[in-house]
Amino acid sequence: MAGNEKEALMKADHVKVYFKGKNRKSGTVKAVDDISFEIMKGETFGVVGESGCGKSTLGRTLIRLLDATEGSIYFHGQDVSSLKGKDLKEMRKKAQIIFQDPSACLNPRRTMKQILMEPFEIHNLTKEVDVETRIHKLLQLVGLDDYHLSRYPHELSGGQKQRVGIARALALEPEIIICDEAVSALDVSVQAQVLNLLQELKEKLGLTYFFISHNLNVVYQVSDRVGVMYLGNMVEIASYDQLYEKRYHPYTEALLSAIPQVDQEAQADRIHLEGEVPSPSNPPSGCRFHTRCPKACERCSKDRPVLKEISEGHFVACHLYDEEH
Ligand code: SF4
Repeated sequence: MAGNEKEALMKADHVKVYFKGKNRKSGTVKAVDDISFEIMKGETFGVVGESGCGKSTLGRTLIRLLDATEGSIYFHGQDVSSLKGKDLKEMRKKAQIIFQDPSACLNPRRTMKQILMEPFEIHNLTKEVDVETRIHKLLQLVGLDDYHLSRYPHELSGGQKQRVGIARALALEPEIIICDEAVSALDVSVQAQVLNLLQELKEKLGLTYFFISHNLNVVYQVSDRVGVMYLGNMVEIASYDQLYEKRYHPYTEALLSAIPQVDQEAQADRIHLEGEVPSPSNPPSGCRFHTRCPKACERCSKDRPVLKEISEGHFVACHLYDEEH
């Protein structure tokens, strides 16, 4: 589907992730609803969408922190949906995650050294691997010093904590990292430093990123390709250059128009979406965006559009382009 001669490292094939609601009235939450795409080796695939659109659920499902309700996920061509025990543990070494809030995911009672030991302990590698040397190298990679090892999380700044989170994700030499709103909790100046660090590490270590953010501006800065999600669906996938040139889906257009512009005229063209994002436990029929779409027509509330390639490597799910292509 990617229309790209590079090798696919990970592939989602008609993935659905449904959760049971808290009570009978709340029904089934369709957090991810029939999503297919590929992540190419060495790329940063950015995913953007409003809060609650299912992007974090999708990221966690890719590395089996959550199980898909339906569909398959392939890593190096192997279906990981049914992996168990040792095989699942092996896969998890290669596919790591960096979370949004570094404070919440570092144990406050453990020193940085103990925190960085955890991945080696979990995978019983403390005898096979020279952990001291590896931890020293990890610190160097993320721009921290050895004296940080004796510190507790509360003694570090937000940026330093996120660097520890990155070091921990790198400990087992992964191939792909899910960056789940990895810079959203940081101050803007620190965000830029952490984004630069992630970029440097990607080049130095040959990593692949699945970069999740609600902020299209941030996604734009780091991504080779971008997937736009709305209410559990992927509505547009394109390279950075293609999206910069032309957005097809009305939702992508609205998201892009919300990026602050220096040019006053361009800023005035901002598209304001009416209404709230509907609940994923009771999504609208047809195109899920039809209740807020400025271009919706009668068909939009009845038929669900499917993701189609409308130019090489550019995919969009919208009835506006059905006849033309
Ligand atoms: Fe808008 Fe219809 Fe396209 Fe959905 S299918 S984005 S409602 S025009």
